[in-house]
Amino acid sequence: MSDVKLSSLRVDLKDQVALITGASQGLGKAMALRLAGAGAKVACVARSVDKLAEVVATIREAGGTAEALACDVTDSASVDRTVEEVLKLWGDRLDIVVNNAGITRDTLVPRMSDDDWDQVIATNLRGTFLFTRAATRPMMSQRRGRIINISSVSGLMGNPGQANYSASKAGLIGFTQTVARELAKRNITVNCIAPGFIMTDMAAKLGETILGEAKKRIPANRLGTAEEVADCVLFLASDAAAYITGQVLVVDGGMTA
Ligand code: NDP
Repeated sequence: MSDVKLSSLRVDLKDQVALITGASQGLGKAMALRLAGAGAKVACVARSVDKLAEVVATIREAGGTAEALACDVTDSASVDRTVEEVLKLWGDRLDIVVNNAGITRDTLVPRMSDDDWDQVIATNLRGTFLFTRAATRPMMSQRRGRIINISSVSGLMGNPGQANYSASKAGLIGFTQTVARELAKRNITVNCIAPGFIMTDMAAKLGETILGEAKKRIPANRLGTAEEVADCVLFLASDAAAYITGQVLVVDGGMTA
């Protein structure tokens, strides 16, 4: 008789603390539900307190653990304060950070204002830098951590009307690769997820015509779901992904294949 024991991947994040930015809706909300479902204690971060409270209530009603923390990711002092608050919540730990908060201000370059450029770079790129910097100190002393940055296929291939957004999302990839190299010895992995078109409020803003055209370019012939991106976050946060760092996981139904 064989002594091989068959087993499958089961993600258990019990006793781990996760912080997700942009957790009040869309992809961030789906990620919060997934990580809480795997047993993590989840700090949900965004600016709108009311929406965050709804997400937290949903998690708690389902038996999970979560707290809402209002924070503007572009504000250095607010970010540092938020990480300090999270450390106080659940035994001085921070195991997983998902830098998901992001905005678009789409227009062609000749019409793009300084503010369109600055706001997008500040939220998508500076916000990720600020939370990563604040999280590395506790992660380094724990000698364990997972940082997951939400980029976009727009950062891989460019997209007319999204020069600011594409630059921020491409910047995240270089940032991720560098921080991954800096932290690998400390047992901290840093990866990117690059979603394609995923059905959330951000995608809905593009309108039926653009989404219809986009669908024609997607081999899977459909938009992705927030849960499909959240599952990738769960995998990269898990022990199964311990040897993956500095990578970009593209979740786009084959669009950039
Ligand atoms: P949504 O617009 O639905 O949600 C964005 C989230 O970011 C909200 O929770 C918002 O909360 C938060 N946020 C925005 N600005 C700030 C800020 N300054 N400080 C704190 N929180 C902020 O976007 P999605 O869920 O669709 O997208 C999530 C991420 O995925 C983004 O980074 C996006 O670029 C990326 N992405 C999305 C794709 C898609 O098709 N949906 C495709 C590729 C990438 P609040 O306003 O309350 O602060």
